[in-house]
Amino acid sequence: MKFIADRMLGKLARELRMLGYDTVYYRGENAYSLMKSARGDDRVILTRSGQITPERPEDRIVKIMEDKPSLQLRELIERKIISLHEEPFFSRCLLCNTLLVEIPRDEAEGKVPDFIFYQRKKFFRCPQCSRIYWQGSHQDHMQKKIEELKNIG
Ligand SMILES: [Zn+2]
Repeated sequence: MKFIADRMLGKLARELRMLGYDTVYYRGENAYSLMKSARGDDRVILTRSGQITPERPEDRIVKIMEDKPSLQLRELIERKIISLHEEPFFSRCLLCNTLLVEIPRDEAEGKVPDFIFYQRKKFFRCPQCSRIYWQGSHQDHMQKKIEELKNIG
């Protein structure tokens, strides 16, 4: 399942990428073009707005009820819209949604802090924005969040 999140849902979009879900963040304000890009790419629309309603049979819209960004991912799991078993965690760039590729270890030298380079064996790079990731590079609170979510999912 692929998503497009509206401008109110930036945090949720990043967290969905963290879980491996292909999620575009739509920063615009135009509901029509949001709808259009969702259709063109076969994405489910995530929105906080009650104004966006399906117009065609293929339109799939999920209205997020939860106000607090920190609870919105949980809402999607509780409503069984996503699960923690569908996609590989940490496989996408959190900033631009691109799938990460593994790079040879020596390519990471000098591009990550030295202590990280010596501690870690595997490194990944985003082919789009060139950001380098390694296991554990996502902040601890994200790892913790996943552990919490496992208890409900
Ligand atoms: Zn990127």
